[in-house]
Amino acid sequence: MLSLNPDDLTAPSPPSSFPAPRIILCTTHISCIFCPPGDSNIIPTLRRQEKPQSVWLLDNACRWVEADLLLAHCISCHADYYPDCVTYRDGGNKRRQRLDMAPQYLRISRHGIWADRRIASLQENALNRFHGGWSNFADWINDSTGARRNLTHRQSQRLFMEHFSRRLLLFHEKDTDFSCGAHPNTHSLSEAVRAAIGVNGGVLGAAMSHGCVDCTHLKRYHSDLIADGVVLGDELNVAGVPPEANTNELPDIPADPAADQLPPLQQQQAAGEGMPRGYTRLAVMDGKTIGCVTHSYLNLKCALDICEGPLVNYKDGRFCDGHSNLRDICGIIPCGRPVRQPGALTCDDLLHIDWQRKYDNRFSWMSFPGVQRVIRRQQADGENSGETGPALRIELGALGETPGNQVVHSFRAKTTYWLQTVHSPQVLAILDRIWAEYPESKPSFIAYDDACSLLRHIVTQDSDSTWLLTTKFIVDAWHYIGHRATDILCRLWCNPAPTNGSQPDLILVAQDDNGSTHQTRAFNTETAEQLNSWLSGFEPQLRQMSDVNYDFFVHVLMMIYAECVQKQVEKKDLGLSEEFWAEATGV
Ligand SMILES: [Zn+2]
Ligand SMILES: [Zn+2]
Ligand SMILES: [Zn+2]
Ligand SMILES: [Zn+2]
Ligand SMILES: [Zn+2]
Ligand SMILES: [Zn+2]
Repeated sequence: MLSLNPDDLTAPSPPSSFPAPRIILCTTHISCIFCPPGDSNIIPTLRRQEKPQSVWLLDNACRWVEADLLLAHCISCHADYYPDCVTYRDGGNKRRQRLDMAPQYLRISRHGIWADRRIASLQENALNRFHGGWSNFADWINDSTGARRNLTHRQSQRLFMEHFSRRLLLFHEKDTDFSCGAHPNTHSLSEAVRAAIGVNGGVLGAAMSHGCVDCTHLKRYHSDLIADGVVLGDELNVAGVPPEANTNELPDIPADPAADQLPPLQQQQAAGEGMPRGYTRLAVMDGKTIGCVTHSYLNLKCALDICEGPLVNYKDGRFCDGHSNLRDICGIIPCGRPVRQPGALTCDDLLHIDWQRKYDNRFSWMSFPGVQRVIRRQQADGENSGETGPALRIELGALGETPGNQVVHSFRAKTTYWLQTVHSPQVLAILDRIWAEYPESKPSFIAYDDACSLLRHIVTQDSDSTWLLTTKFIVDAWHYIGHRATDILCRLWCNPAPTNGSQPDLILVAQDDNGSTHQTRAFNTETAEQLNSWLSGFEPQLRQMSDVNYDFFVHVLMMIYAECVQKQVEKKDLGLSEEFWAEATGV
């Protein structure tokens, strides 16, 4: 696959009586990209620098070979043309740089080391398939080639940054405007790219226009249910769950001022004859992602943090910039005493020291998928009924009077945010930010573990919020079955599939072999965990990164994932057909 021929690996050039010609690295531009056409419409052609420079190249067959680097120069504006970029003088007479978006060779070290773009593709595939980061990739290349010359971790990281800077800029359609300081170091390059693509907190434009048969359905009306022979049930029962989970007797619970402010649910009339039917989209959201039912892929990095700020350092950092002074205070809240020594997590109270140690032991072996399984099992057992959203109960000893699971602490930013339910104000801020530029793309439904708390927050904060008109917030069926008994807002507003026909978009009518009909749920909201499990495979790497690298890396993962989703949609023919759009929009 790598075309690795052991005989070819040690020598700089293939041992042959007719050695392959030396590779020449040079720009593909022939004329200057900055200078306007001059006399007789001729754009100044580039001059080549007199003497080629000898460099090392990791070629497309993973061999280290010597090659000739040729630079070109525009004598009119003094732009310099490298094989992978162009440097030029900006208005302020500062040297800047534009990237060539599809170069064959990438410079991976200032000291004359280059790599064929194909090596970057191998690196990308290793990332996608084996979760291999740049260090592992370098080791693997070196192991496989056995060459005396090594690809260093730094060079491998540079290759990663150069390759993915171009991929990300193209993906986010920022390629034509992008420039950065000339000859940036790796950090400045990733920072500049992040600034160009990350301004929306990682909103993928592609996700906003995404639609597939799983998340986007033709609008349905009450008359459709009737036509399908629906047998209606109670408003407070859920379609598609075992009959024993539904009930006709729910306790009376007192009114809720927040629920009273919600606008009344409207029953939509069927579209008139010949009128477009419209369509419905459902987005699924959890602590980390939001997106289409089966393919959630929109990164919400900031939802991960306990506060809105990013961690200064993802390796062992626990706090954002603004909270870094908390490092010196006991991690058990609200103790407030200073830590017993710099770097310690608690004060010198033996109880605190001991509890922190237990906590550490409890978590060190627990992976994210493991945690998810526990949450799911607890939910299925109905242990959580009455609580909002999944809560993982971890058996930790009590601390004094406080039961172990109620101890508030700040020991591990990372692990806590994998587990913690994000609070409604943050979730709303995230939703507002995502759809700020795409207000017309707001989904008709958002399915979310904690939708009832979110809805309560929205209506309490602003009872005129447009969210209340555009979008219905629904919870998971099992959450609903537990919570409808005690929470009036959840009961009346968040049913994911009411059986009384009030939400025809959420219901399908199915017929069994005996010809009797029953209701099923139109969207399956329980399948949105794929991205989380794929992402969690990268957790060890993410944990070791600085904040800029972290952001860049998460952007890369999101892009790769989004592309996989798109391929899957095409391969399985899940795209929305022209007939669908004709019926939905009338055009
Ligand atoms: Zn020029
Ligand atoms: Zn979809
Ligand atoms: Zn953040
Ligand atoms: Zn903070
Ligand atoms: Zn303490
Ligand atoms: Zn609820």
